[in-house]
Amino acid sequence: MTNSEATDRVLTEVEAGRDEILAFTASLIRIPTVNPPGECYRDCAELIGERLSGSGMDVEFVEAQNRPEHTTEHPRVNVIGRLEGMASRPCIHLNGHFDVVPPGDGWKLDPFGGEVRDGRIYGRGASDMKSGIAAAAFAVEAIRRSGVSLSGSVELSGTVDEESGGYAGVAHLCKAGYLAAERTDYVVIPEPFGPDRICVGHRGVYWFDVIAEGRVAHGSMPHLGRSAISDIGVLLYEIRAKLEPELASRISVMPVVPEEARHPSINVNAVWGGQVSEDQQSPCVADRCVVTFDRRFIREESLDEVRREVAQVVAAVEQENEGCSFRIEERMSVLPTQAPQDSPLISALSKAIRKVQGSEAELVASPGTYDQKHVSRLAGVDHCVAYGPGPLEEAHQPDESCSVDDIVTSAQVMALVVLELVG
Ligand SMILES: [Zn+2]
Repeated sequence: MTNSEATDRVLTEVEAGRDEILAFTASLIRIPTVNPPGECYRDCAELIGERLSGSGMDVEFVEAQNRPEHTTEHPRVNVIGRLEGMASRPCIHLNGHFDVVPPGDGWKLDPFGGEVRDGRIYGRGASDMKSGIAAAAFAVEAIRRSGVSLSGSVELSGTVDEESGGYAGVAHLCKAGYLAAERTDYVVIPEPFGPDRICVGHRGVYWFDVIAEGRVAHGSMPHLGRSAISDIGVLLYEIRAKLEPELASRISVMPVVPEEARHPSINVNAVWGGQVSEDQQSPCVADRCVVTFDRRFIREESLDEVRREVAQVVAAVEQENEGCSFRIEERMSVLPTQAPQDSPLISALSKAIRKVQGSEAELVASPGTYDQKHVSRLAGVDHCVAYGPGPLEEAHQPDESCSVDDIVTSAQVMALVVLELVG
């Protein structure tokens, strides 16, 4: 079979499987894999496993045994399928997380119904990212049906907990050696960037708390105490007046979307303070206040610089306000990551998008992180990008949906990429 015959056959097989792809997406949506706390993971892993076995893949279930969040009530079960051609390398790995965020309020449709209306499928995970998993699974299935034999190998994994950091999911697969530079050449994560956009990486994260210690006193005599809330107030003002404009003046060369997110940012995620408990307030001066910050940084900034800059603002407020005392505690940090610009994975995807969509691929970067961080840092696989169906804007929203055409198109693109790189 010539290359162009193989291409045509695979494209035809994906299109012919349209109803099956849709039915599989719906069946994934109907399993409420809500995280937190991590419901129904085993059921969903088994459903994906069944699909992969049907495509002739060797299927293995990988539980995150050593992780504290892996419990009897909420086991962390990942699934991985492998189809080996003439050789084990090159190997392309398609990975999707099957956990979803809680549905929240505001739905007009059943969040776990998987209903189809006017060419769109609805439900929690329709965009982020059960459609992507279905598209990837049928990309592999279409290759099997077309009778094309592969020279390398293809793997597909369904993983847990991306929405809470991915430690029992992709990070676990990396640490256990399933994803590793010694065996994996390319990784595609079908997160919902849309059928003609390739996401080459993401910004970094520095999450930290600032804890203010004051002195308790009677609320009628505040001069006898020191309000930790007031001190945090001064800090918040300084951050808005000085740090925010400074961050807004920096810009990344990475093609982060939306455009505004090409600048670094800082958000106040939460503030706790005072002796308030369960709607009962006590008439005291607040001796403690904690604020959680979410600082997103660009490739042009180093994590050390980011930490130092924050520490300087905090120290300056302490210095200018006698008796003011802060402590910084780091919660989490993630470095920015980006696939090499000349990656064969990016050119294969661009070529496939041109063939299937008839348009030039747009290269973008994500404002927030996703499992690519683990693939690049833990597994050491740089040739990793996100490509998948669904509007990013609908992720985590009520009435989340995905265009059925986009699911089919993305499956075609992924199938061609597998052919190009390991066919
Ligand atoms: Zn996602």
